[in-house]
Amino acid sequence: MDCLFCKIIEGVIPSNKVYEDDMCLAFYDIAPQAPVHILVIPKKHIASADGIDGGNSKYVAHIFERIPNIAKEAGLVNGYRVITNCGADACQSVKHLHFHILGGAQLSEKMA
Ligand code: AMP
Repeated sequence: MDCLFCKIIEGVIPSNKVYEDDMCLAFYDIAPQAPVHILVIPKKHIASADGIDGGNSKYVAHIFERIPNIAKEAGLVNGYRVITNCGADACQSVKHLHFHILGGAQLSEKMA
């Protein structure tokens, strides 16, 4: 499968890692849209939020259990935003489920 984020998980493509365990990987976004911009991805290929089901939702639960500590370690003591883009209308560009953690400054009230 030709998936950029699967290649990052395999180490074929390098990343600036923030956190890793057996179920997820967190790394800095290559084109940050906030002072702190981290991506958290499952180590199982799930194409998008549309592909979450009872067989793989444990990866999503795990990621959300880890996000508070990932954010804290990144210094996001004043809050942060978690976003996932799903499909064409949301401009999803990488077809491997990922959660953006954005923070480090006052973010816009608007999300779209
Ligand atoms: P999305 O548009 O929601 O699919 O988000 C994909 C994100 O992946 C974008 O914010 C990109 O900047 C980021 N990205 C693409 N390639 C890389 C890479 N090699 N390392 C880190 N982040 C990447």
